Amino acid sequence: MNIIDGKALAEKIRADLKKKAEGKNIGLAVVLVGANPASQIYVNNKIAACEQVGIKSFPHYLSNDTSEEQLIALIKKLNTNKNVHGILVQLPLPKHLESVLSHIDPKKDVDGFHAVNAGGLLLGHDVLPACTPAGCIELIKSTGETLVGKHAVVVGRSNIVGKPVALLLLQENCTVTICHSKTRDLPSITRQGDILVAAIGKKHFITADMIKPGAIVVDVGINREDGRLYGDVEPNDIAGHITPVPGGVGPMTITMLLKNTIKAAST
Ligand code: NDP
Repeated sequence: MNIIDGKALAEKIRADLKKKAEGKNIGLAVVLVGANPASQIYVNNKIAACEQVGIKSFPHYLSNDTSEEQLIALIKKLNTNKNVHGILVQLPLPKHLESVLSHIDPKKDVDGFHAVNAGGLLLGHDVLPACTPAGCIELIKSTGETLVGKHAVVVGRSNIVGKPVALLLLQENCTVTICHSKTRDLPSITRQGDILVAAIGKKHFITADMIKPGAIVVDVGINREDGRLYGDVEPNDIAGHITPVPGGVGPMTITMLLKNTIKAAST
């Protein structure tokens, strides 16, 4: 079985991105509301990744009691700031601020969550794709196997992972099945997947008997328990290729954010 090394792939892509960003003065605004420790770590990692490839980051740290009007005013300023090519608002946001994402200029929406980018993906337009799904596709392609005609089974239908990864797999000419919590006889479907993407959020939910022998398995899940990280897929030797947790999808997500920022700067 081949362990797909997301860290090594991310480093390789970042080296290419660094060359592309050179001398272009590309900027990414990073907005963090509140002091959620996990969000702070994600934001610090994103700022460090920007530095690694020569993208200037503009951090904005706001308090939890920031009003909707204040955050929208900041986003509008960033939308027109010529030095800012991408805007990233770290999620989750406090409930009263969730709707502000729609105010980000879709051309600067490097997370790919704006309705224009999410909808454009459905229509097959050249959009800024959501980062985790785009990273999944790169990881699958890195196996060297052809995607055309493969049956891809996606477990999970969230707007940020399951649905967009299914659409990207469709664009790659896979035959795609999307499963969710109401799917009947899930194992009989997952066992058909030449490609299996698990985006559920439940530790080791996909057991070895649910995997087709030789399948390419992408484990998106991040489940924290006793200070350790676990994926959605049980460790197994049935898959042909599998992404580890940690060190699989995670490093690729940030790398796709950098890629989107460089793409946003060039359009
Ligand atoms: P959500 O909770 O939004 O979605 C989970 C999906 O799993 C839902 O569609 C749900 O179905 C489905 N599901 C839940 N239980 C079952 C079940 N018993 N059988 C079949 N399907 C089920 O999660 P996200 O998509 O946001 O994230 C998924 C995982 O990926 C999480 O662990 C998250 O931490 C991780 N993640 C990792 C990232 C990375 O960079 N590595 C980035 C983003 C997420 P239904 O719709 O019917 O409720």
